[in-house]
Amino acid sequence: MTNPIDTLVHELAKLPGIGERTAMRLAIHVLRQPPEFGHRLAHSLNETVGKVHFCEECCNITTERLCHICKSERDEATLCVVEDIADLQAIEKTHCFRGKYHVLHGALSPVDGIGPDELKILELLTRIKASSAIKEIVIATNPSVTGDATALYLAKIIAPYNKIITRLASGIPVGSHIEFIDRNTLSRAMASRVSFQ
Ligand SMILES: [Zn+2]
Repeated sequence: MTNPIDTLVHELAKLPGIGERTAMRLAIHVLRQPPEFGHRLAHSLNETVGKVHFCEECCNITTERLCHICKSERDEATLCVVEDIADLQAIEKTHCFRGKYHVLHGALSPVDGIGPDELKILELLTRIKASSAIKEIVIATNPSVTGDATALYLAKIIAPYNKIITRLASGIPVGSHIEFIDRNTLSRAMASRVSFQ
């Protein structure tokens, strides 16, 4: 029989940025706490997995069919495409974007085996095809190798739909992550986004 601590370490080590050593440290930390700590953690994981899913429209996380952004009054004409939910949240904090979002859940990275089918690209295209209200697609992928590759790919496949395609303006350092950019820089980049072509 497998030792439960080995299983826990093995599962924790699958989390992004967590290697075996950190996984072991986290597991030991949990064991050192009163049992309620572990039970609460397990309960919250269970609740999250059981109740949280992707919004049917934008692929943000939600406990309902549509997320709070898709349900609220937003500018239907502008659709901002981001890699991750953390990027969406960072842009929301700037309060400078009133359009809607689409979360890809990653970026194209052939070396990691991530192609278009691994991302929410089909969902994006279906949305663009279904809505004549969408006039502009803001591609807000990270200014990184994979983010740029994703942006180029999206611009190519969206081109036939006659939408204005824009990217966030410079000011965002190359190689950085939208999630970690300060609000001022990010609002400036959003306000002065540039045409893709
Ligand atoms: Zn949504």
